[in-house]
Amino acid sequence: MPAKIESLAWEYFTYAPAGSRCTACRKEIKTVELARRGNLERPSGQRVVIYRHADKCPE
Ligand SMILES: [Zn+2]
Repeated sequence: MPAKIESLAWEYFTYAPAGSRCTACRKEIKTVELARRGNLERPSGQRVVIYRHADKCPE
């Protein structure tokens, strides 16, 4: 079940740990690329940290 967008809160810009994947394009975020760190609440109430490309997702 996809998470609702309302439960997603972007916290700050940072560098994602190696191996992190962008939740928008599913591509790996390079450690030299700035990423947006977000906090996603699952329907179960569990909180997970996600990352997304801070700028445009690469083609
Ligand atoms: Zn992306």
